Amino acid sequence: MNHTTATLQRWLNGPRFAGLPMREAGHPVPLLSFEFFPPKTEALEQQLWACIRRLEPLAPRFVSVTYGAGGSTQARTHETVARLARETSLTPAAHLTCVGASREEVEQVARRYWEAGVRHIVALRGDPPPGTRYAPHPRGYPFAAELVAGLKRVADFEISVAAYPETHPEAAGPEHDLDNLKRKLDAGATRAITQYFFDPAVYLRFLDRCAAAGITAPIVPGIMPVSNFAQAARFSAMCGASVPSWLPHLFEGLDDDPETRRMVAAVLAAEQVRLLQANGVDEFHFYTLNRPDLTYAIAHILGVRPVPARSSAA
Ligand SMILES: Cc1cc2nc3c(=O)[nH]c(=O)nc-3n(C[C@H](O)[C@H](O)[C@H](O)COP(=O)(O)OP(=O)(O)OC[C@H]3O[C@@H](n4cnc5c(N)ncnc54)[C@H](O)[C@@H]3O)c2cc1C
Repeated sequence: MNHTTATLQRWLNGPRFAGLPMREAGHPVPLLSFEFFPPKTEALEQQLWACIRRLEPLAPRFVSVTYGAGGSTQARTHETVARLARETSLTPAAHLTCVGASREEVEQVARRYWEAGVRHIVALRGDPPPGTRYAPHPRGYPFAAELVAGLKRVADFEISVAAYPETHPEAAGPEHDLDNLKRKLDAGATRAITQYFFDPAVYLRFLDRCAAAGITAPIVPGIMPVSNFAQAARFSAMCGASVPSWLPHLFEGLDDDPETRRMVAAVLAAEQVRLLQANGVDEFHFYTLNRPDLTYAIAHILGVRPVPARSSAA
């Protein structure tokens, strides 16, 4: 068969794909949340606040700030969350972990958040410093489920927890990990946010497993728009998110071409969220990495528009 005949055969006999449905303007817009990390330098601080101001008019239902090991990182989380509460129209959620702290210390941090008007905590076990194995603090909370119960004793926080569509790397197995998610929800969490994933089918299968296990709380997909493939591959190896074989190929040859990388990233993330939306998913959590543009564009594609009345004047 020559090339022309082969092309004609493909046109005549190849599969036909229908497009993903586009939402009408009147369709309810999805609920969004955005995740930021606390800045380490003055320049990063400015980048973060430019990002916050750009995303603020999209009126997410909450924005969260991650929490690292070590006193200075934790102070930065607190400062960022407190400033969000003070100076913006946004509802902040503070991440809090069990790592390297006694129960009393963790509870003290939680009480300070409550006093600063923060009512939402993302409760996590946390990761140990790179190259070390997790060991609970001798007087600390061993796992996130115990932390959730402890926070609920401090005050009536709204609590979100982490979920792993591809199973947490240290879990004894997928069923143990799912039981752990149930324990966290039974302890008082009302929502789970997933580790990021690249293949929407991975998340949709996980939803089926959650439903079969009797979990009824929302399992919100964590979306990470990838524009730096090398960095994403490194993260993924650490946190157990599988990288489909087509993904490196998509970014091949673009190391020195950030503009094209960003366009590819936008298309990729848009396809991902549109497929999820077509499957009925109407809540999304974005790992913004403190960069607003991809998140803004993808939220726009999902039907979200700025709400000027909610943005603060500051
Ligand atoms: C949305 C999101 C936000 C995150 N934000 C942060 C952050 O701000 N700061 C940070 O440091 N990390 C953060 N992480 C990473 C997280 O801390 C790590 O993935 C950590 O390794 C696990 O945290 P967890 O809360 O899921 O732990 P857990 O739910 O406590 O689970 C940890 C592991 O222990 C197992 N396990 C739980 N209970 C038991 C038990 N009783 N016996 C035996 N095994 C058990 C679980 O199956 C799992 O393998 C985040 C992750 C996600 C998905």
